Amino acid sequence: MRLISLELSGFKSFAKKTSLEFSAPITAIVGPNGSGKSNIAESFRFALGEQSMKSLRGKRGEDLIYSGIGAGAKSNRGSVKITLDNADRILNIDYNEVVIERIVHRDGTNEYFINGSRVRLRDIMELVAHAHIGSSGHHIISQGEADRILNATLKERRVMIEEALGLKVYQFKKQESEKKLEKTEENMRSVESLRKEIAPHISFLKRQVEKVAKAEHMRGDLRTLCLEYFKRESLYIADVRQRLVREREIPEKKKEGLEEKLQNLKKELAVSSKTDGRSHAIVSLEERMHAARDERSSAERKLGRLEGMISAWQMHFRKEQERNLAHKQRSISFSRVEEFVHKLDVEIGHIAERQTLEGIQAAFSRIHEIMQKFLLHESEGGIEKITLDTKDYDDQVEQKKHIEEKISELEKEGRALDLEYRMMCEEMEREKEVGREAEREMFALMREQQVLHTELMQIRLKEEQCEREEKEFKNDLGEAAAVVGRELVNYANFVINSVDVLAEGRDKQRERRRAIERTCVRLEEMGNGAGGEVKREYDEILARDEFLARELGDLRQSAQSLRELITDLDVRLDYEFKAGVAKINDQFQNYFSLMFGGGTASLSVVREKKRRRLQLVLAGEEDADSISEEEEGVEGMMIEVSLPRKRVSNLDILSGGERALTSIALIFAISQVNPPPFLILDETDAALDEANSRKYGDMIENLAVHSQLILITHNRETMSRAGILYGVTMSGDGVSQLLSVRFDEAVKVAK
Ligand code: ATP
Repeated sequence: MRLISLELSGFKSFAKKTSLEFSAPITAIVGPNGSGKSNIAESFRFALGEQSMKSLRGKRGEDLIYSGIGAGAKSNRGSVKITLDNADRILNIDYNEVVIERIVHRDGTNEYFINGSRVRLRDIMELVAHAHIGSSGHHIISQGEADRILNATLKERRVMIEEALGLKVYQFKKQESEKKLEKTEENMRSVESLRKEIAPHISFLKRQVEKVAKAEHMRGDLRTLCLEYFKRESLYIADVRQRLVREREIPEKKKEGLEEKLQNLKKELAVSSKTDGRSHAIVSLEERMHAARDERSSAERKLGRLEGMISAWQMHFRKEQERNLAHKQRSISFSRVEEFVHKLDVEIGHIAERQTLEGIQAAFSRIHEIMQKFLLHESEGGIEKITLDTKDYDDQVEQKKHIEEKISELEKEGRALDLEYRMMCEEMEREKEVGREAEREMFALMREQQVLHTELMQIRLKEEQCEREEKEFKNDLGEAAAVVGRELVNYANFVINSVDVLAEGRDKQRERRRAIERTCVRLEEMGNGAGGEVKREYDEILARDEFLARELGDLRQSAQSLRELITDLDVRLDYEFKAGVAKINDQFQNYFSLMFGGGTASLSVVREKKRRRLQLVLAGEEDADSISEEEEGVEGMMIEVSLPRKRVSNLDILSGGERALTSIALIFAISQVNPPPFLILDETDAALDEANSRKYGDMIENLAVHSQLILITHNRETMSRAGILYGVTMSGDGVSQLLSVRFDEAVKVAK
């Protein structure tokens, strides 16, 4: 890699665009004090990303922009461009030429470009790290800073050496890896905390899903149970229905027959109710019998009276007869006897007809009378006596005869009435008996009807029970279907032996129903329906957790890889550093003894803690035990020298020239071991005497074999070694100007 050119525009005193070509290994920049030479050296630092304003001799970004009154005074920006030849691809970029540019604006903002493309500062730093020309500036020795490496702290010195050895690349890699590791660990923590955050939700959802699975299992069992239950229940209900229909048939028929019978009986009873009319007829008959009896009693009383009178008459006649009988016997004609017998026959015939006692008595009475009359008539001997006084008697007899006939008629009528009455009573009794029989039958039928009614009522109750069971069945089916699904309506397809079903007791079916109810309640308690959603959410969160776990695994793996990489880099850095330091030490010794004509010089790695602790404890500022681990762990570089013929215990007692020579020896040693593409030395030779200037001149020629040298100098010897000489002058308006000069001119310009 080679430095081709430098272009400054508006940077510090270079108001106008100024270009420097570096076509020779050694370029010297000469010019009077304050003309702007150091500004050129600084422009390199600036372009390579220097962030320390102090190193750029300014306080703000604005200080880097031309602020004079000359041309370009209005410029609001200062820029520096470095063009490098990258044919050997030292820079890790696929261009033969690489232009690195930095622009600073008045507001202090900066822009960085690589080959015209805007980039980050870090990109510039990483790019140049490959060429060992970072901003630490070991290859840019500013004015008055020749011994900077001697003044630097152990740590700063180490950084310079590391950069010079090209270890910056590894350090960048290490830093990058550390940052990545830090980021990875941060990511791991956030992934772990995310997993921790979702873990309770996962376990909650897991329990829910388990519940859902359990519920699903229970629902499956319930479905089978329900199918069996409803199939059994439907068979049972159908059977009960059929049985009830059959059970109803006989009593219904009986009921119909009974109703018919009852109708007939009612008709019969309606007929028997006519008995009332008959009883009226009986009453009137009784009245007629009563009247007939009254009439007969009256006739009999009258007859009695007549009989009394007749009897008195007869008594009189008998007395008369007895008197006549005492005087004579008398004969009786046959015809008289026949007539007498005939009368008796008639009366006896009447007796036969008479049925009542009274009738018979009356007949006997008349028989007695006939006999009396016959005897009286015969004993009197004839007609003369009869004609005497029998008229009243005859009337009475006649009356008596009529009355007797009347009585006889009345008796006859009485008998007829009696017969009629008896017949009527008998008829009525018979009718009543028929009515009573009909009533009895009706009551029996009604009892039977009642029994039938009760029987039918019981059947009705059973039917109602069956209807209730049917209704309950439909209800249950609906409710169960809501829990286990619509497929329950296909319960009829459930295969079961109907004979077994009907043979089974109802208790088992009731037990099944209770089991269904219990399961339904449990399912309800477990939360019905939201299963799919919970499962989905669980799957999602589980997938997320698995993703996070995988990511965590990847992160752990990459963290592990990064740690290994960092360890490798540490090992490599350590190795390279120690190897580099060993080489530098050789060269340091060479250059040192060359410069001082002998003596020894060495670099050694020390832990800064010792030094710091020692310093601080000596200064009484720090308690030795309070030094932190981190501080103790930082390694630094210590320089130890011993001058020929002098006892030098530490660097502080060296003279300015000795310090400059030691410093130059070290810088050259470093540059020799790992040559930078270019080396800028701003008046590093200022403190050298003539002899040392020559030695210095020799050494830079040596160095120029591997690195381009840009030397700002007032030293004639140094100028004489340069292939190109630039003279810098400052115009009256404070603008630096550049011109190529020849050696003899350069000597003049330098003055
Ligand atoms: P010496 O030989 O004495 O070391 P030099 O040639 O190295 O001098 P520099 O230090 O490079 O000179 O330049 C300093 C000059 O640059 C000063 O005159 C200063 O005024 C000028 N200068 C610095 N910054 C600016 C700026 N922002 N604008 C204009 N001029 C500036």
